[in-house]
Amino acid sequence: MIPYGRQTISADDRRAVDAVLCSDFLTQGPAVPAFEAALAAYCGAAHAVATANATSALHLACRVLGIGPGDRVWTSSNTFVASANCALYCGASVDFVDIDPVTYNLSVERLEEKLDRARMDGTLPKAVIPVHFAGQSCPMREISALAKRYGFRIIEDASHAVGGDYLDAKIGSCRYSDMTVFSFHPVKIITTGEGGMLLTNDTELAERAALLRSHGITRDATVMTENSHGDWYYQQLDLGYNYRLTDLQAALGLSQLQSLDAFIARRREIAELYDRALSDLPLLLPRQHADGRSAWHLYVVQLQLQHLHSDKATLFRALKERGIGVNVHYIPVHTQPYYQRLGFKAEDFPESVAYYRAALTIPLYAHLSPEQQQQVIAGLTEVLR
Ligand SMILES: *Cc1c(COP(=O)(O)O)cnc(C)c1O
Repeated sequence: MIPYGRQTISADDRRAVDAVLCSDFLTQGPAVPAFEAALAAYCGAAHAVATANATSALHLACRVLGIGPGDRVWTSSNTFVASANCALYCGASVDFVDIDPVTYNLSVERLEEKLDRARMDGTLPKAVIPVHFAGQSCPMREISALAKRYGFRIIEDASHAVGGDYLDAKIGSCRYSDMTVFSFHPVKIITTGEGGMLLTNDTELAERAALLRSHGITRDATVMTENSHGDWYYQQLDLGYNYRLTDLQAALGLSQLQSLDAFIARRREIAELYDRALSDLPLLLPRQHADGRSAWHLYVVQLQLQHLHSDKATLFRALKERGIGVNVHYIPVHTQPYYQRLGFKAEDFPESVAYYRAALTIPLYAHLSPEQQQQVIAGLTEVLR
């Protein structure tokens, strides 16, 4: 089976992990700050805080903004459940913004309309979490202008987008946001097995995130509430978590980072070949906004179901039978049973539901071979004609 996504691990990557295994520290050693510093420098952000995964980074991002009961957080209806769950962890309520049918990202027009209504009702969000779907940046300049006008904070869920660009900066620069979160799950662009990163230009937010990442405990005497009892002394200043990344993972991440630009270049090349080879099939191919360069986490096609004699489930199975590991991103979060119980109706965000009906993710990863890609193209052609 050719999977829709998978990791690419080199001999250098394996050596980097092995070196940590032979060192003094498997966790809380030097590899974590080295990975943080390298990724912050790559993205052009002032601070990076490594975490156990992107879900924990999103949770920390909400915590450091002080999001809690009575607050509202909005995100895209076309995302993984974690982008919404992070606000619920803090006791806040979640709402969604429907998508732009061209980019499948949160629609700035829908966002602005919803903000206008919320201002009249007194229900403005404390934070908005735009998700850079498939690796393509949301229009952050426009969202940031709305944030100033309506007074909300911005957390970019860039789980799909490390290595991508927006305007003249790397995604993760936080030029138009308070924080950006990346995921290093194996299907994402670079991996640490499990892992995540929170980036910010705000020193206070970074310090608070680092504190909450490790139980809310500090050994820094300058922030303690009383004099140290001795060199063993530490204080718990807040209720935190164990959301740490290990040194084994950080060493892998630092090594993967050396390949990031090559991975993106290869992903882009594969996407361009799909663009050409699939253009005559009854498919809507991904479209790119001129303001950015996607990291190409996913290649999503929309089936033109009105021109097809089979339904999506049948086509999906037929592709799997041909060894093509297709997938679907995403089942709109508001249609999940848990969110339905919170009162959401499928018709609340119709663009994301219409998109979901037709969307299909086809294989794309850095070492997908030309032969494998031809197999995907031939399989799709056979099944769709
Ligand atoms: C993968 C993903 C997450 C969660 O990432 P983990 O590292 O697995 O916690 C969150 N948001 C989006 C959009 C994702 O794709």
